[in-house]
Amino acid sequence: MITRWSVFSYGFFRSLPRINCPVMHDTTLSQPISRLPGMKDATIAHLATLDILTIEQLLEHYPMRYADLTLRDLREVADDEKATVEAVVLQPPTLQKLGTKKTRMLCKLASGTETFQAIWFNQHFLREKLVPGTLLHVTGKWKKQHRQLTVSAYEWVRPLSAVTPASLQPVYAVTEGLTQYAIRRAIATALTHYGQEITEWLPPSLVAARQLLSRREAIAKIHEPLTTADGEQARKRVIYEEFFHYQLRVQAMRLSAKRKQDGIRHAFDRIKIRAFVRALPFELTMSQKQVIADILREMESSMSMNRLLQGDVGSGKTIVAAVALYACILGGMQGALMVPTDILAQQHVASFMRLFSAAGIEIHIALLTSSVGERQRRHVLSGLLTGAVQLVVGTHALIQDDIDFVQLGLVVTDEQHRFGVKQRSVLRNKGWRPDVLSMTATPIPRTLAITAFGDMDVSTLTELPKGRIQIRTSWVPSQELPRVLAFVQGELQQGRQAYVICPLIEQSDVLDYENALHIYEDMQQFFGDAHVGILHGKLSPKEKASTMQRFVQGEIRLLVATTVVEVGVDVPNATIIIVLDAERFGLSQLHQLRGRVGRGTHASWCILVADPKSEVARQRLKIMTEVQDGFELSRQDLALRGPGDLFGTKQSGAPSFRLADPITDFACLEAARDDVAALLAEEAFWTDDTHAPLRHKVFHATEKAHALLD
Ligand code: ADP
Ligand code: MG
Repeated sequence: MITRWSVFSYGFFRSLPRINCPVMHDTTLSQPISRLPGMKDATIAHLATLDILTIEQLLEHYPMRYADLTLRDLREVADDEKATVEAVVLQPPTLQKLGTKKTRMLCKLASGTETFQAIWFNQHFLREKLVPGTLLHVTGKWKKQHRQLTVSAYEWVRPLSAVTPASLQPVYAVTEGLTQYAIRRAIATALTHYGQEITEWLPPSLVAARQLLSRREAIAKIHEPLTTADGEQARKRVIYEEFFHYQLRVQAMRLSAKRKQDGIRHAFDRIKIRAFVRALPFELTMSQKQVIADILREMESSMSMNRLLQGDVGSGKTIVAAVALYACILGGMQGALMVPTDILAQQHVASFMRLFSAAGIEIHIALLTSSVGERQRRHVLSGLLTGAVQLVVGTHALIQDDIDFVQLGLVVTDEQHRFGVKQRSVLRNKGWRPDVLSMTATPIPRTLAITAFGDMDVSTLTELPKGRIQIRTSWVPSQELPRVLAFVQGELQQGRQAYVICPLIEQSDVLDYENALHIYEDMQQFFGDAHVGILHGKLSPKEKASTMQRFVQGEIRLLVATTVVEVGVDVPNATIIIVLDAERFGLSQLHQLRGRVGRGTHASWCILVADPKSEVARQRLKIMTEVQDGFELSRQDLALRGPGDLFGTKQSGAPSFRLADPITDFACLEAARDDVAALLAEEAFWTDDTHAPLRHKVFHATEKAHALLD
């Protein structure tokens, strides 16, 4: 039996006499890490760059993985392999100086029947410790021929101990200048001095029912597992806890908003709504009717609404928004619709005007985008303050500081994933708890929806309007572009219109722009300049609007564009969309682009021009040609390459977890969600003293949580 006496192990620090650690016994874990004994300023600074400021944050910096330090028999270690062996020092080491600061130290060791040379670089301070007879574990790369092992890690072993050396060493995310050693040491110190302060916050009944480790035990074991099973048990607890905490926050916030019953009771006349719907140029789909009914019911009630409407491209979300906004206006309040682009804002204003006037309804609608002139803008602003403007449609321009509403009743965000979390909440805060409807065409698989949108009720448009023609999608190599263009020529001659989409070249606005211009010139040559237009991010809002207008009116027949047309643009006469270098786009983006055609009664095509290099890229293009349904598409995309691309970074409000992964740990996510729902369904959660700490945990950081979730 041997004891590990390791500088890595917190046992080392724990064994320090108390007198050396003037620890202040403030019992909270929220103190700064500088309170830990022996913390170097440099380490504190490095940890701060990892957002680790408090002791609790340090303890929650979980290992990414564990290095295997299982002891090996040197005879079985292959050349160049990294391994750990137990060895004893045979002779005192020899030290060589390499330049002024660097050193190389050689030491003859024996492991079992084998002798070899261990090499340490720049660790001359070990010299005194490497006395013959010392037992240690060395990890490093084995050079069989020279019988040399270059040491990357080592541990001292003291004979006659009760503890088996750990064979798993945690490996942490670090930052430049921060060593694994420093972070392990910091965590070990934190465990020594504050380990006992780690308290349970999950309901004990759940810890028992789900067979979880206590929080204290889990945190100790995750950093210092003795066995793989230890590590796994600890991870299981931490993952559950992360999901539980997140679910608790979002579900409790949603329910508490409902329990308060302090939402706006929109008082509208249903007969007028029915008249509006009857005057529409089409019959609503069953799905639209259902969703509208849900929304209206919630708007009428005293509960506040926070609803996500998802529906595939072309499923008719706009009309749902129009009905909800009309109801809000009938109730005497103002509505706001925020969209990601100028083009889309103008298009919505035009179509709302058309829809309302066809039904003989008079509503004062205002447009507010960066292309609106200063005088007009001021006019709109005062209209919002007096209430003269009943509905405002706009872009980010809507969330500027100087904009105020007299009584904002409903906020709708179209293509909500295009907005930052903050932007959405800013608009919402311009009213007194207005109802919120967020719309998205980026289909979110159920797995991710419950994680990302636990705080929202979700409605889904499950069908497309009748009579939609299928869009035929094909993929051709770039050498066939001339043939494709000839085909487009034919369609244009039939009176149809087309888009040619140029890819974004990453991180270079200039290149994107030049690339688009080149393509534009090529297209002009091919089709004759009178019919070709161009749309890209560098144009002023006015230029964009006028180009779009000319495309809508059919003056421009072929529109060369960057992805600015991606969302929402509705020109029913356009029947072909060609996407150049299609492999550069994400599938959901390609699907959005494809949705620009097939909006009228004519047969439509989406042609992906691509020369994919990798097998995955080929697979993705193939999926595009085979799958029409956005939800199925996102499911397959997800299966192919993980969720990364679905949510553009943290923008969407999707939470990020330390260890938990909503995809691979889905069963655990569901368990946590169900446990939270059951807990919240009990009146005790809201009123009982025993649940006060939990309630505190949820509502304490309300502001932070709002920023995260709104
Ligand atoms: P999206 O959900 O992608 O925003 P839109 O709201 O732009 O879709 O609707 C796409 C097109 O379908 C629009 O031209 C719209 O007028 C039309 N539309 C919407 N609902 C119906 C319906 N029930 N029947 C027929 N056409 C519809
Ligand atoms: Mg839309």
